[in-house]
Formats: sequence, structure tokens, C-alpha cells
Amino acid sequence: MSNWESNVRKVVPYTPGEQPKDSGIIKLNTNENPYPPSSRVKTVIESFDNAKMRLYPDTNSTVLVDALAKRYNVKPSQVFVGVGSDDVISMAFMTFFNSDKTVLFPDVTYSFYDVWADVYRIPYAVRPLDNDFRINPDDYICENGGIIFPNPNAPTGVFESLDMIEKIIKANPDSVVIIDEAYIDFGGESCIPLVDKYENLLVVQTFSKSRSMAGMRIGFAVGNEKLIKFMNDVKFSINSYTMNPLSQICGAEAVYDEEYFKETTGIIIETREYSKKRLSELGFSFPDSMSNFIFASHNSIDAGFIFEELKKRKIFVRYWNKPRINNHLRITIGTREEMEKLFSALEEILQMKG
Ligand code: PMP
Repeated sequence: MSNWESNVRKVVPYTPGEQPKDSGIIKLNTNENPYPPSSRVKTVIESFDNAKMRLYPDTNSTVLVDALAKRYNVKPSQVFVGVGSDDVISMAFMTFFNSDKTVLFPDVTYSFYDVWADVYRIPYAVRPLDNDFRINPDDYICENGGIIFPNPNAPTGVFESLDMIEKIIKANPDSVVIIDEAYIDFGGESCIPLVDKYENLLVVQTFSKSRSMAGMRIGFAVGNEKLIKFMNDVKFSINSYTMNPLSQICGAEAVYDEEYFKETTGIIIETREYSKKRLSELGFSFPDSMSNFIFASHNSIDAGFIFEELKKRKIFVRYWNKPRINNHLRITIGTREEMEKLFSALEEILQMKG
């Protein structure tokens, strides 16, 4: 009998949020942006020469890297781009978490980190957040093979100060610290200005949330030149042509439309603050969010029940049946109209139990 299965790289894959096919759904489950991308992206798509698809894309994504370097005031050699920040972070795991020492991240965090650690056979350990879902920096001041966490954290929305993060980076000169800033544009302060000060800091961001381009799959990392060179060496050892030409130019155009970026992130922040008020009035509590979602639990009604009832009403939010967070719902901030429909549905559901 053959035994090939014993040689297979076995993993339990990440479970993404549902992408329902039905129309008429209010989709508040995957932290997408409710607004379309910049109109400059549409113009580029409409004028794109189909014949260009015949050719391989620019392996260096030069137009996009240059736009990002200008926007973030760094050199192009300090920018790495990938197919969504999942691709970027996965490459960073492979490149920098390469010892037999333990990689550290919080117990409540982005649920892809343990999946990447498993698929690349990287040893890891989690550090519990405190009861308010805060990171204790002292938990990360010990021997380790690398550190990663999002700021603001997901799915909590909690933002940690740069002073606290700097303390962790400073205390770990022998390992790479990755700050996943997927949600930084909704009111937080980015660590990017620290990359010239600390050569072990890698900051990752995405176009999927604040730039409304989840479908285009664009993510990037900023760090010192040495880090970026090491990441590119690994990337070019796997697949040179990751980002398609349309994503490259659309991404650059989106970066150049700063006005639209400010306008849409501003509206989402405003809607988030209004939603906090409404959720509190309905009996929910939540850590203060600096992201485009709120991680809420109700003071008397079970989150699993609310999740199912919302789904029956075609409103999708995210729920995890996992320790510590199985009584919370992660609610993405949609348009004001979508949020009003959510609040009406919640009122109805709460009355069922009232
Ligand atoms: N990091 C965090 C914390 C996220 O929530 C997400 C979105 N699922 C990502 C990274 C990846 O986003 P993308 O691959 O769309 O850039």
C-alpha cells in the first residue's frame, strides 16, 4: 500500500468570512468598505488596454511602489508590495520567522497568524490580552523568534499607543517585530515614521479597508531597505509575477487621490462614533474601537442568538465560537443607512427576549 499521505503538508486552513451570493444582504461581516474606490480607479479600468494582459506584469510594481514611497515619505527600496496584506504577511512569516525560537502574538487577534505559523512549521505561543483586551508590553520582553500583532487589534478594534509599541520594538533588537496596520487609517497613528529608527520593524498595510479595494488584492509593507530586500529575495524565489498590471496602476491612482481617501475614511469614522452611541443605548458594551468595526457584546442576550437572528434578517456580522470571544459580535461599519437597518433589527431581536 502506498504511503504518500504521510508526506503531505497537512494544515487546518484559515476560515474567511462568508461572501454570500444573494442580493439584498447587508454585509457587515468582513470589514470591507461600504464606499466604492476612488473614481480615478474606475477611469484607469475603463481605459486599460486589454492587449497589455498578453505581457507579464512589471515584477517590481514600480508605479505602485513609487506612489507609496511618496505618500509615506520613504524610499522605494523601503516598500514591498503583495497580493493583499495576507500575501505580504505570509511572506514576512516565511522570511523573518525562521528560527526554532517561539514567535509571539496575542491570544485574541487575527486568526490567520496561527495558520501561517502552522503551515510554515514555525513554533509560536500566544500572550493573553488583559480583561480590557489590551496588550501588556512586558509579555513580549523575553526571548522570542519574532513578534506580530495588529494595531488597532482585530477583532477588538483596540488601538495601542506608539510609545507602548516602541517599548516592544526597542526591547527586541534580535527579532523582527511586525505591526499589522490593516485598520490604521480609521483614526490610529501609524508606526511607519519609526522604520528609520528601528531596523527590526516591519509595518504592513492594506488597500482592502480604507481604500475600498479588497477585490483588487493589494497590500504593502514598509521597513528598512535590508528587511525589504530579504522579503523580495524570498518572494522572487517563489513567484516573480504576483501582482497583475491593472492592480498596480489602480493602486497607484488610489494613493494619489488623497482627498477621496480622507473623505471616505472620515465618513466611516463619523458613522462608527454614531454607532457606538446607538449600540450603547441598546445595551451593548465594547472596547473603544479605532477601526472600521465594533466588537460588541450585549449585557443580557447571547451573541450566537443575535448573530443567527440577524442572519435571518439578511444582515451578516461576524461571530466566532471561540474561548474569550464567544459572546461578542464583530460588526463592520457600513453606510449610515445600513447601520440604521442594523439598529432596527437589533431592537426587534432584543424585544423577542425582553
Ligand atoms: N490583517 C488583518 C488584521 C485583517 O483583519 C485582514 C483582513 N482579513 C488582513 C490583514 C488581510 O487583508 P488583505 O489580505 O485583504 O489585505
